[in-house]
Amino acid sequence: MSTRRLCYCGNIIRSGEIPSDVEWHLLSDVRLFELLEKEGPAEGVFDVATRVHICPECGRLVVHWQGLSKPPTIYIEEPEKLEDG
Ligand SMILES: [Zn+2]
Repeated sequence: MSTRRLCYCGNIIRSGEIPSDVEWHLLSDVRLFELLEKEGPAEGVFDVATRVHICPECGRLVVHWQGLSKPPTIYIEEPEKLEDG
């Protein structure tokens, strides 16, 4: 599906190409194991994975937790890194 989304940074995120370099597919560990047990590697990933678009300008992640027809949740990288421990 071709999509265009205006990012908060002003960039337009386009995901029309197949494969798309701005589109990622997010899958929980539990869901991945269910998929592998039932269908084998790669089969069905597109049906069950959460679509994620990344803005190539600012790195924001547009996560479609409830499918492409519902409003996404947008994440931005924290400016500072937390130290481990
Ligand atoms: Zn952006």
